[in-house]
Amino acid sequence: MDQRFAHLSNLAAIDAAHHIHPFSNMQKLNAEGTRIIERGEGVHIWDSTGKQYLDAFAGLWCVNVGYGRSSIAEAAYRQMQELPYYNCFFGTTTPPTTLLAQKIASRAGPKLNHVFFTNSGSEASDTWFRIARVYWKALGHETKTRIIARNNGYHGSTVAGASLGGMTWMHEQGNLPIDGIVHINQPYWYAEGGELSPEDFGLKVARELEEKIIELGEENVAAFVAEPIQGAGGVIIPPETYWPEIKRICAKYQILLVADEVICGFGRLGTWFGHQYYDFEPDLAPIAKGLSSGYLPIGGVLVADRVAEVLRDQVGDFYHGYTYSGHPAAAAAALENLRIIEEEGLVERVRDDIGPYFAEALSSLADHEAVGEVVSVGLMGAVQITADKASRRRYEKPDDIGTAVRNHCVSNGVIVRATGDRMLFSPPLIIARKEVDQAVDTLRNALDWLR
Ligand code: PLP
Repeated sequence: MDQRFAHLSNLAAIDAAHHIHPFSNMQKLNAEGTRIIERGEGVHIWDSTGKQYLDAFAGLWCVNVGYGRSSIAEAAYRQMQELPYYNCFFGTTTPPTTLLAQKIASRAGPKLNHVFFTNSGSEASDTWFRIARVYWKALGHETKTRIIARNNGYHGSTVAGASLGGMTWMHEQGNLPIDGIVHINQPYWYAEGGELSPEDFGLKVARELEEKIIELGEENVAAFVAEPIQGAGGVIIPPETYWPEIKRICAKYQILLVADEVICGFGRLGTWFGHQYYDFEPDLAPIAKGLSSGYLPIGGVLVADRVAEVLRDQVGDFYHGYTYSGHPAAAAAALENLRIIEEEGLVERVRDDIGPYFAEALSSLADHEAVGEVVSVGLMGAVQITADKASRRRYEKPDDIGTAVRNHCVSNGVIVRATGDRMLFSPPLIIARKEVDQAVDTLRNALDWLR
């Protein structure tokens, strides 16, 4: 090893001895060693051996404005010097917190004018979960407590977040889901659509919501939650018929509609929020990730007027909050991040320029014999690997295939993610055309290697 990095080989040993990683297999990690990421600039990151990667996944779907934005660091630094911390409990606030709430509201759907701040998307899940129940109770609907979510959805790792998520392997760890949460099918046409057209399948799975509400009794159902596009589940893009039908059903049965915007929010789909792309307005919308592009941890829940009015007029004290809800330095960083997104027109860039370019580049893989389907909206895309194109047959061990292809890409300098046999892309919104080409070519090479 290069002597300049000698201390870092020591760091890997320290890491193995002391650091328990999220979503990691400790045995495997100790055997293979930790990858230590040291630096980032634009769409690139560098590890401790000096190897450069194109980060086609924006960290974890979050570094929307790219790495190395000194103005965000400076905004946080200035705020820390002025006032590093004060809380928003008991009727106080700090200037960046309040201005951030206003800024977010100005970009969301017209009735989403209120924000409750958290530190993460998971905490946002716990927060809206309580708001939904508090809302119905305040209106005298004591039994309206149950939440309908979706198989294979992802809403975080807290007990409520993991329960709302539909990932059964997460449920197995910790006896989840908690009471009161039920799951219906996801609109994953490629794997579960059978002989139906995507449009018919979209309607069919949306109507499972109606069936579930009728089965549980509408007087017992508080809310339905879904990601506009399911992210961690594999970038599952719903057929066009899906969201209009969900919107209709929630309105018909008086169910709060919750759009988990943690990934789709802040420009990824070429709109400020996913609900705008699909033309509906949720009652509650958890946000995080792109809100600060990951520069500091911050999340929240967008709350529609009708819900906020009940909290204000009928609930009295809402006994919920985090020490760092609306943290001033995180809020200052987020404000600067949103200023950059606006000033550089990144949302429009995704919608009109790089998003369509990305879609075209990615779809050049559709003819590959190892590829089942290619989907994308804005800068969120997936390539489905198949064992047999004609029959849509999947490999027996999809995780192994996805991991092998992902590792091939990473060792060739491009970070993509695999969920089962789907290869996922979610690059920073500043990615250049030639970098899109590099990412797609690297995946093509990996698929050639697979076959
Ligand atoms: N909701 C969605 C849709 C997510 O993708 C995630 C994280 O990936 C979360 C919630 C949880 O956010 P966090 O990891 O910030 O707690």
